[in-house]
Amino acid sequence: MLLTRAPRGTRDILPPEAEKWRRIEEKARELCRLYRYGEIRTPLFEHTELFSRSVGEETDIVSKEMYTFEDRGKRRLTLRPESTASVVRAYLEHNLNAAPQPVKLYYIGPMFRYDRPQAGRYRQFHQFGVEAFGSQSPALDAEIIHLADQLYRQLGLPDVALEVNSVGCRRCRPPYREKLQGFFREKLESLCPDCRQRHGTNPLRILDCKEETCRSHFREVPTLGDNLCPECGSHFAALQEGLKNLNLPYRVNPFLVRGLDYYTKTVFEFISPRLGAQSSLGGGGRYDDLVEVCGGPPTPGSGFAVGLERILLALEEEGLSKEEEAPEVYVASIDAGALPRVDLLLRDLRAKKVSCERDFLGRSLKAQLKQAGRSRARLTVLLGGDEFREGKALLKDMATGEQDTVSLDSIIDAVLDNLDREV
Ligand SMILES: [Zn+2]
Ligand SMILES: [Zn+2]
Repeated sequence: MLLTRAPRGTRDILPPEAEKWRRIEEKARELCRLYRYGEIRTPLFEHTELFSRSVGEETDIVSKEMYTFEDRGKRRLTLRPESTASVVRAYLEHNLNAAPQPVKLYYIGPMFRYDRPQAGRYRQFHQFGVEAFGSQSPALDAEIIHLADQLYRQLGLPDVALEVNSVGCRRCRPPYREKLQGFFREKLESLCPDCRQRHGTNPLRILDCKEETCRSHFREVPTLGDNLCPECGSHFAALQEGLKNLNLPYRVNPFLVRGLDYYTKTVFEFISPRLGAQSSLGGGGRYDDLVEVCGGPPTPGSGFAVGLERILLALEEEGLSKEEEAPEVYVASIDAGALPRVDLLLRDLRAKKVSCERDFLGRSLKAQLKQAGRSRARLTVLLGGDEFREGKALLKDMATGEQDTVSLDSIIDAVLDNLDREV
C-alpha cells in the first residue's frame, strides 16, 4: 500500500489533466511577457528562519503547516510554503535592488504545507505568482490586479469578483491593533478558541475568522479603513482610482486581512462564486516592510499569487471540458509488411509538427480503426495491401468518413492539406 499510493495530500497529474495545467501555465507566462515580468526559479527549500521571520511566527503557516527538517549538516531547512519570501531572499542575494526599479518577477511551481487535505487543497500544491520590488505606486498594485484579472478571464472564469482593502502600515496599524484588542477584550468568552489566542498575538486575524460566533461582532467592530494614517488613506484612494481607470469592478471588504503578517496597505482577493465556502481564488497585496525584515534596505514590494489547483477546481465547476487532446493523424497498417513505412511516415509527419500515433500492440486492422476513432484523430492513414504495393495509401477523414487514395510520394502534402496546414 505504501508503495502504490502517493503520500496523503499529494497526487500525480496524468496526461489528460496535465494538458490543462500546461494551458494555465502557458497563459500565465504569456501574461507575464505582456506585463514585463521575468521568470525566477528559486530552490524548493530555504532556511527555516526565512519563513518564520517573513511569513510571521504567529501565522498558521509557520506555527502548524511547515515541512521543516534538519539536513545531514544540521541545518534547519523548510520546504517552501509560499514563494514571496524566497523571491525577496533572491532579490537581496543578487543585489537586484541595484538594478533599475521596479524589478518585476514571476514564478510557477510547487509549495508545501501540512494542511488538512480537502477539495482543491493539497500538501504539495502549485502556485503562480508575481512580485514587483522598488515602487510604492498604487498604480503598480492596480497593474498587478489587472494581470490577475486577465488570467481568470482568459482562462474562462469571467465571474470572479475582486475584493480590496488596506491593512495600513507600521504607523497606523499598532494603534488600530490596540483599539481592536480593546474592543474584543470584554467579548473574549464569546470568541472561538483560535481567536482567543489571536487576541493576544495577532488580533487583526480575528477579522479573518470564519466562525459565526466571532463574526457576530463584526457589525460593530472598528475597521482599519476608518483608522488609516493620511498616507495609507490616500494610497488606498489612489488604488481605487487606478482600478476604476482600468475599468476593473471591485468591492471594498473592510474585513479582508489575508493570512500573512507581512502585508501593508493594499490587500486584495479574487472570489469565485463557484467555489462555495472555499471561495478564494488567489490574491495578494503590498509588503513594504518585508525586504527590510529579511535583512535588506527599506524596499517597497507588491505581489499576487494563485493556486493552480484552485483554478482547475473552478474550471471544473464551470463545466469546462476535460477532454484529452486528440492526435491529428492515426496511421494504421493493414499488414505487418507496411510497418517500416508506417514508422517513416510518423517520422516525417512529426517533422512537419503533426501529432500522430500508431498501434504498438499488434492489433488487427479493425481494432486499429476502433482505436483511431476512440482517440478522436482527425485523419487516419491506412498503409498495406494492394494499394501499398502500388505505392499508394488510403487517407480517411474521420469526421466526414470521406476516403481518398493518395500516392505515397505526396501523402505528407495531402495530410497537411486536409489539416488546413501550410503545405
Ligand atoms: Zn499607515
Ligand atoms: Zn474565531
